[in-house]
Formats: sequence, structure tokens, C-alpha cells
Amino acid sequence: MNIVMLGPPGCGKGTQAKRLEKSRGMIQLSTGQMLRDAIAAETALGLQVKEIMSTGKLVDDDTVIAMLEARIEEPDCENGFVLDGFPRTVPQAEALDKLLEAKGLTLDAVVQLTVNEDALVDRLSGRFTCTNCGEGYHDTFKPTNTADICDKCGEGSFERRPDDSAESVRTRLKVYREQTAPLLPYYTSRNKLHEVDGLGEMDDVEKEILAAL
Ligand code: AMP
Repeated sequence: MNIVMLGPPGCGKGTQAKRLEKSRGMIQLSTGQMLRDAIAAETALGLQVKEIMSTGKLVDDDTVIAMLEARIEEPDCENGFVLDGFPRTVPQAEALDKLLEAKGLTLDAVVQLTVNEDALVDRLSGRFTCTNCGEGYHDTFKPTNTADICDKCGEGSFERRPDDSAESVRTRLKVYREQTAPLLPYYTSRNKLHEVDGLGEMDDVEKEILAAL
């Protein structure tokens, strides 16, 4: 099964995509994470996108499409994938349709996680991650049990995404409304869209997604 998780930044796409990876054996393909990895590794792609990503604007379609095309060729995608953060524009959605068709694959469902914008700003501006094991936390909603110590691995080093600053968050929400929201009618007209309330408990959101699938 191949699905797309759609929704504004901070709606829980990444969290739910990870859960689907565990429960359904599909692989999470996060274009944002691929780009952050490229930046950390200081590859040519990383250097190209670093500045634009920190502002919260989108990387150009051709670059992201080429990156995703190469990733989908890898063998771990054969059991199905959850696209997290792609497509983000109508041209990307069209490119995805073509790419899947050429490979004889189908897009089974698009899950839209709905949340209100005030909740998003709170969610995004408090996020931090363990540098060692990648466990995600939040200042208000999911602090560590012991101050500055990761519950999962016991290390004490954390990082925050540069694009989770208040200014970048505002830009990311605007970009979502202007460039990504047009994907909702795109997928509705193709009978692919399933709307799920993203504001509940993580377990409940996951149950709703599985029911929709
Ligand atoms: P994310 O981790 O999905 O929130 O993405 C973080 C940032 O990576 C975005 O704000 C964009 O700058 C860039 N990015 C990720 N996916 C895409 C995409 N499909 N198209 C363009 N830019 C992207």
C-alpha cells in the first residue's frame, strides 16, 4: 500500500507516518528529513537547500522530485511507503502520479490530518529532539521525565529545528495555505482523500487513520 500523509506543518504527519511504519511495515519517506540529512552531510544538495529551508519556504519542485524519484527506486520501498511532506505542490502531485504509473504502482489513499492553526504554532514552537536517538519531545505536551535527560536513551543532548522559530513557522503556514492546500481538491476529485482529526491523542489518531485505510 502506498499512501500520502497531508496536512500543515505540525499536524503530526511525521509521528503518524512512523507509527504506520511500525504497524503496517510501510516505509516512511520524509522529504524534509532527506533534506535535513543532506544538510548535515554537507552534500551539494544540502548546501543548495540550507538557506531556503531555514526560512520555511519550499525547495524547488525539480530538486525535490528528483530526490524522491531516486529514493523510491531503493528496495526498501517495495513493501509500500508513506509519503510524509511530499507532494507539497500540484506539480509535485502530478509528477508523483507519473512516477507511480511508470513503475506500475498506485496511490492507495491520501490522509489529511486536520488541526487548527493556533494549535500548530504551539506544537511547532515547543518541539525538540534527542540528538542521540531521535526521540521527539515537546516543552509543554511531552517534556522529558528528568530535566535534560532523554527518557529513551539516557543521553542529555537535544536539538531544535531552525525552521521551528516563530518567524519560520509563520512562513511555513502561509506556504502551506498557498501552495499545498490546493492538493486537497486535487485528491478529492480523484476520490483519494480521507480526512482525519489530527488533534486527538496519538493512539486515537492512528486508529482513525487505520480505519480510513
Ligand atoms: P518538513 O520536515 O516536511 O516540515 O519539511 C521541512 C522543510 O523542507 C520545508 O519547509 C521545505 O523547506 C523543505 N521540504 C520538504 N519537503 C518538501 C517538498 N516536498 N517540496 C519542497 N520543499 C520541501
